[in-house]
This record gives sequence, C-alpha cells and structure tokens, in this order.
Amino acid sequence: MTGLTCQVAIVGAGPYGLAAAAHLRSANVDLRVFGKAMEFWERQMPMGMLLRSYWEGSHISDPHGDLTLDEYQRARGVQLPRPVRLDDFINYGQWFQRKAVPELDGRCVTRIERSSKCFRLMLEDGESVLAQRVVIATGIASFARRPYQFSAVPLELASHSSEHRDFSRFRSQRVVVVGGGQSALESATLLHESGADVEVIVRASRVRWLRYGTPLHAWLHNPVNPLRRILYPASDVGPPGLNWIVDTPDLFRRLPFAVHSRIARRAIRPAGAGWLRPRMNGVRITTGRVIVSAKATGRQVQLRLDDGTERSIDHALLATGYQVDISRYAFLAEELVRSLRLVDGYPELTAGFETSLAGLHFLGAPAAKSFGPLMRFVAGTRYAAHALTRCILREGTSPATIKVPSYECDVFAENRTDM
Ligand SMILES: Cc1cc2nc3c(=O)[nH]c(=O)nc-3n(C[C@H](O)[C@H](O)[C@H](O)COP(=O)(O)OP(=O)(O)OC[C@H]3O[C@@H](n4cnc5c(N)ncnc54)[C@H](O)[C@@H]3O)c2cc1C
Repeated sequence: MTGLTCQVAIVGAGPYGLAAAAHLRSANVDLRVFGKAMEFWERQMPMGMLLRSYWEGSHISDPHGDLTLDEYQRARGVQLPRPVRLDDFINYGQWFQRKAVPELDGRCVTRIERSSKCFRLMLEDGESVLAQRVVIATGIASFARRPYQFSAVPLELASHSSEHRDFSRFRSQRVVVVGGGQSALESATLLHESGADVEVIVRASRVRWLRYGTPLHAWLHNPVNPLRRILYPASDVGPPGLNWIVDTPDLFRRLPFAVHSRIARRAIRPAGAGWLRPRMNGVRITTGRVIVSAKATGRQVQLRLDDGTERSIDHALLATGYQVDISRYAFLAEELVRSLRLVDGYPELTAGFETSLAGLHFLGAPAAKSFGPLMRFVAGTRYAAHALTRCILREGTSPATIKVPSYECDVFAENRTDM
C-alpha cells in the first residue's frame, strides 16, 4: 500500500545526495531523502586514508556557502590537518547532513519503478513512496570492477578494495595489491603499516606520482602565489589547462564526444599522491606486468604473471577501480533501465541531469559521461546541485503541477498535509 508521497525523492546521502538535498530544500521543494549519511565513506574506505582531493575541492556544496569545511572547522573550534583525514571528512559530511538535511530518512531504497507518470520507491521495511521526480545519487559501490582472471577465486582470498575498512586482519600475511592508482598505492601503504608483506602489481610501465606534498607543489598552491589562481581552479582535477575544462562541465558537455574520453582519460589516469611515497618504503612495486591467471589452492592464491613468474600469496587485494553501469544498481527495475538511453552503461543526461525518462535524474559518477570527470569528485557537487535545482524549479514543482493518474492523485491529496 502506498504510504508516503513527495515531489522529489533523493536516493543516497553521500556528498551528491546531501548537496542536492541542501539546495532543493532551500528552494522549498517538497523532498524526501533516503540513505545513511556518508555510508560509503564510513564502510567502504580504509581507516587511516587521507583524501587525495585538496581542501578547496572537498567542500560539499550548500546554497549559501555556510557549510564548507572551513565553517565546520570554525564550528568545532579546531584546525583540521591537511590532507583531510577520512574520519574528519566523514564527520564533516554527517555535520553537513544534520545542518542541511535533518529530516534524512535512513532507510535503504530496495526498488524504483515507473508508476504511470510518477515513480514508486520501495523501502527496506516494505513501505512505499510515490515521487514525481527521483534523483539517484547512490555512488559507485555497485560498480566495483573485478578482473576476470579472479572470477574463480573465492572472495575471502581475492577481494575488491571497497570491501575493506580495516586492514589489521592481514598482519603477517602476504598480500598482492593489483592496480596502480591512488586506491592501490594507499591500500598497499596501509597494509604495510598494518604489518602485512605487500607487493603492488601495476600494469603500466611506471607508477605516476602527483606532486601533492612536494615543495614545488606547496609553493604553487600557496594562497599568496598569484600563479595559483591562474593554474588551478578550486576543484583541480587534471593537469594545468585541462583542469579548467574539467572545472567547467557546461563546456565539457559541448565538446565533441571523441574529445570527452581523451580528456577524461588524461584527467583521471591512475596516479598516487606524492605524500604516499615516503610511507611506501618496504613495499615492493612491480611495474609493466599483467596477471594472466589466478587460482585458489587451499588457503592460498597462486598468481601467474605475463613474464612467467609466479606468486603464492595469502590474499589478492583488487584495487581495480569501478566501471559505471547503471544496470548494476539492483534497486532499479529492469523495465526502467531498458527505457533509458545509455552510452557505455552511463545514462544520457540533459543540462538538468535528467535522463531520457522525464523526472529521473542521476548525480555523481553516472553523470561523468555527460558532464566530465568532475562528477566523480566531491568538487562536482556545486555544479550538479545548482543545475539540478535550476531544472526542477524551471520545470515546476508546486503541487498543482504534479501530473499523476487519478487514483494516485488521491493519494497525493490525502497525504500532502503531513509533508
Ligand atoms: C578509496 C576512495 C577514495 C576517494 N577519495 C576521494 C577524494 O579524496 N576526493 C573526492 O572528491 N572523491 C574521492 N573519491 C570519490 C568519491 O567516492 C566520490 O567523490 C563521492 O563519494 C561521490 O559522492 P556520491 O554522493 O556520488 O557517492 P557516495 O559517497 O558513494 O554516496 C552514495 C550513497 O548512497 C547510498 N546508497 C546506495 N544505494 C542506496 C539505496 N538503494 N538506498 C539508499 N541509499 C543508498 C550509499 O550508502 C552511499 O552512502 C574516492 C573514492 C574512493 C573509492
């Protein structure tokens, strides 16, 4: 039976869902927001992690700029260390939620389907909600990429990096980390610091290090350095020059499709923050090698590399990234996914982050095909929340504009007073 109704339902309470909720709420849009605040960061990132994004690129957007990391720092009366620590960022996100979205409904959405001219959301406890619009901001957890070589290896012997919060269980174990990006290199560091014997296997011929943490970088990023504002926008995703294109999603959208993937590849190619390097002493890094096969033998994993060498290890940690494919969101009804125009698993989106199905919006990484790599980072919340809010306000959200079939209109009318 239908219980709740709303004009806009936001699914997911990570940075994108929270930012969208803050902006829409301030525009008096009738809203319900589902999910636990910052759950992905709290459960699926390793303790001790530091954010790779800069301070200026790590604010969750709110309409008046009252809820930045600077304001959080001020409210707590402390100076947070930089790079930002994972725990500080989670606390910041949860503080943001209490301030901007106090009515957050922590329930998980188990199914979303089209219901005539609106959407029906089923919640984990069986209650359902009718919404005129749905904003999906459910992040990348469903898209973890597991290389096919590991398909026959049990999860307890080969796991994705997103499955770990605490690496202490790997103390004294031999662990191979697969991947050459920030997540792989930082996981390897944290494993090493937890007492594991670690080797990183990287497909590329070398590991790329970002200058973050070096004296040159500190000088270029010094707020009093006039070069800083010329070279680096606040988001700072990608190398100088390209970072300005990435920082302007409107411009990115207008560029030819062929250019999109070149920019994206260059802006977010695998690399590690320079400040990790000194902490990696004692971690073996093998570059230019591909794992051709992996098989479980008892409680061990045997890896064979393309140079013919083998490794016998206790665990393989797959820091192999994420591949957006919205059909992997288990809560989306199949018919709904089938009705969307997709490109390589990403939804095609309008300027208001709306899919080919009116009223259905996607934020965060699924929007990266249309709006560029900025959408994979917290820094993109500002642009996304503004554009979404503009679109929803323009297309109308007052109760009179809700177009739903008559039996559902009754439900809306009955429930509207308690919203
Ligand atoms: C290891 C790692 C390090 C990173 N470091 C950085 C960094 O330093 N800076 C940066 O900008 N980005 C970083 N990122 C990228 C980061 O994931 C994104 O910037 C950010 O999480 C995007 O926010 P989001 O709201 O789209 O997704 P999320 O933060 O993943 O939020 C989505 C939320 O939706 C919830 N959800 C999912 N399904 C449902 C459902 N059915 N019902 C209700 N709720 C649901 C999830 O629990 C989750 O809390 C990192 C990613 C990883 C994996």
